Amino acid sequence: MKFGGTSVGSAQNIKKVVDIVEKTNGHKIIVVSAMSGVTDSLHQIAKRIIDLPNRVIEGEVETFIKQINKKHANTAGELIADKKILKEVNAKIDELTQKLRSVLLGVGYLEDLSPKSLDYILSFGERYSIMIIASALKSRGIKSVALTGYEAGIVTDSNYGRAHPIHKIVSDAMKEKINPLVEEKTTPVVAGFIAANTDGTITTLGRGGSDYTASLLGRYLNAREVQIWTDVDGILTTDPKIVPNARLIPTLSYLEAVDLAYFGAKVIHSKMIEPAMDVNIPVRIKNTFNPKGEGTLIVNKQEKIDHVIKAVTSHDGVGIVNMKGVGMIETPNISGRLFGLLGDRNINILMISGSSDSNLSFVIKKELIEEAVEVISEGFGVNGFRSLEVVEDVCIITVVGAGMQGTKGLAAKVFKAVADVDANIIMIAQGSSEVNISFMVKTLDRKKVVKKLHKQFIEGIY
Ligand code: ADP
Ligand code: ASP
Ligand code: MG
Repeated sequence: MKFGGTSVGSAQNIKKVVDIVEKTNGHKIIVVSAMSGVTDSLHQIAKRIIDLPNRVIEGEVETFIKQINKKHANTAGELIADKKILKEVNAKIDELTQKLRSVLLGVGYLEDLSPKSLDYILSFGERYSIMIIASALKSRGIKSVALTGYEAGIVTDSNYGRAHPIHKIVSDAMKEKINPLVEEKTTPVVAGFIAANTDGTITTLGRGGSDYTASLLGRYLNAREVQIWTDVDGILTTDPKIVPNARLIPTLSYLEAVDLAYFGAKVIHSKMIEPAMDVNIPVRIKNTFNPKGEGTLIVNKQEKIDHVIKAVTSHDGVGIVNMKGVGMIETPNISGRLFGLLGDRNINILMISGSSDSNLSFVIKKELIEEAVEVISEGFGVNGFRSLEVVEDVCIITVVGAGMQGTKGLAAKVFKAVADVDANIIMIAQGSSEVNISFMVKTLDRKKVVKKLHKQFIEGIY
């Protein structure tokens, strides 16, 4: 059972989480995110501190850690009546705050924020929240223990910021660490998102990665079900923040869910389906604030429903890199080389399109653009292409649905709908999977395109 940032975002919400855990029978493993906003604030201070003049660093760090300490201490204070448990958790919160203080000062004075230090800083959000939630369960009489990702057996490579689990190690380590706890009826509260490499140095699984932690645990511990508890009723036909009357999708196949997550439905992390799908464990998305709702069930079966298109997603925070004049040198298999170079650095290409022999465009996450440009410039060399151009104010729009396979003329209808709202399609995915159509538009056009496609293909108003 994984509870996201909003679900653990306040004492009041954590009480709801404890209620849900208490009412759920059987062996449970709890995974929690940082309290909402905490990971973002850690990210911001880390980035800011390296640019500050020395004389203000200490003051800035003090202000920040005071605030973050207070947020967690207040939450614990509101939740936990038992004096002994509260004292223990407060000591742990203070200990974490002192560690955070040291690393922020170090990074600030050295003006050096390596990906390794950033992961260490970002890990604090979940390290605070496991302490609070495990204590809240204890004070309700539920035997419980807080574990970091590493303590739960999640060992990764050293790809800081987007580390990969080393499955051979994880498989045994997880069983060894968690099974004895479950047997003695102790409920583990595991930190989502954070793990460690084989040396025990903290790594992270990528933003939003707590979902992935939950599905890894489910996969290696043979769970009956992986539950993702969040702040909406399940996976909806589109983001309710864009279309408030988006509808709940009761069931989805793994493949549909992968596409949905990959292309932007933030409600689940893109990597979380794979481990569950590997061993056929159902994934259920539920609402912490409406626990009676059925939620969305993700299983193997592909259900073709009357709607051809099941959902519309959008994904900003991406950019296009255009490589121009690549055909100038006689290099065979340019896209293969490109995939190789970026793959070696763990940079995932979301979409690729080769408009002609000499031009190649691909889409990646914004935060990876700088690194990608560097890797390509080195890898292809100065004579490898004529120019590299980056386009940033764009987003990916995707329509997903198993019913799309073999539906003639659907892409044309989708593209016409986009034109009807005066939006330009900048790029169309090459070789997209059979259950989705993806294309890029300007970020400015994002909302109107999503609204139009939802209206036309899901609400059925033509
Ligand atoms: P958590 O903190 O629980 O992990 P997230 O913020 O990561 O929650 O994900 C939940 C949010 O995902 C929702 O509040 C909603 O705005 C957004 N979202 C985007 N697309 C969808 C979709 N298709 N269905 C449901 N929610 C979506
Ligand atoms: N706290 C992490 C983040 O904000 C992980 C998560 O919430 O899933 O990205
Ligand atoms: Mg999330």
